[in-house]
Amino acid sequence: MMKILVVDDSKTIRRLVAECLKEMGHCVAYAANGVESLQFVTDNDVDLILMDVEMPQMSGFEATKAIRALKKHEWFPIIFLTMHDDDRSFENGILAGGDAYLPKPLNPVRLRNTVIAMERIYHMRKKLKQAQLELQIANQDLERLSLSDQWTGLGNRRHFDSNLTMQFALSRRNKSPLSLLMCDIDFFKTYNDTLGHQQGDVCLAEVAKIIKEKLERTSDLICRYGGEEFVAILPNTPLQEARALAEKIRDSVIQKNILYGEKQQQMITLSVGVATYVGQYQNAADLVRAADTALYLAKQNGRNRVEIN
Ligand code: GH3
Ligand code: MG
Ligand code: MG
Ligand code: MG
Repeated sequence: MMKILVVDDSKTIRRLVAECLKEMGHCVAYAANGVESLQFVTDNDVDLILMDVEMPQMSGFEATKAIRALKKHEWFPIIFLTMHDDDRSFENGILAGGDAYLPKPLNPVRLRNTVIAMERIYHMRKKLKQAQLELQIANQDLERLSLSDQWTGLGNRRHFDSNLTMQFALSRRNKSPLSLLMCDIDFFKTYNDTLGHQQGDVCLAEVAKIIKEKLERTSDLICRYGGEEFVAILPNTPLQEARALAEKIRDSVIQKNILYGEKQQQMITLSVGVATYVGQYQNAADLVRAADTALYLAKQNGRNRVEIN
């Protein structure tokens, strides 16, 4: 069943065509001239139009051109009904945006079958559009999945690499500071050994959430760098600001009071290495190495602390 608009200035023809279409099971609406047809498609959904060519004020060709311009992103077939069955008019009709051409007086068999043919094309196109839409959604999901860590919902290593390369280039061009926080959970092996790997996973998700909550700028990106290591990319952030943020994160992990060990005597803590690019490094890898060195220092100096490079 299609919603069909019949446009003709002759009431007799409108009635004749409508009768045929209703018999085929379609739903029919009318317009008595080009302007009315334009108004109708502005306000309503249409699946097919049967358009008289010879109408006063606005011809069927003109109305069709206007409708096609109005519905740029949508398509439905338009069949012309005309007194002029010569090659030239036929050509003009197709050029105006029509899809089929039926001479008057109308032959009901031709009318019926042309509508059937157009309906086929219309449905094929609709299916194609639906498939396109589904593909687009699937692609978006795929892209999101390919860039995120399944367990924590943070960015994954791939996302980190591509984002850092981009931010490094931006920072170099704009001469703006780019900071990295390299975070590593302290003695996490012991946590796993005492509470089990599954509980370890739960703890990782908790720590990821804490880090995420502390970094609220939309330009910040937090990724899972490795097993129990997280890294944050902070564009436009100078060293002291980055260090203060790192302290806040370290502190929130303590506030969370995640206990483990034989008698729950140990607490999950975080060591953080901070480095900031202000033009001194050759590439992004140098910045990562600098943050790594700072992290190593934090471990050396007793863990549960922030060190800068
Ligand atoms: P340090 O303070 O020096 O960082 O000590 P650590 O025990 O945290 O460091 P180490 O590198 O020796 O061990 C890291 C441990 O993290 C090893 C592994 O059991 C655990 N781990 C890494 N990835 C995962 C994971 O995805 N899930 C769980 N549950 N544990 C993980
Ligand atoms: Mg007419
Ligand atoms: Mg580690
Ligand atoms: Mg560790």
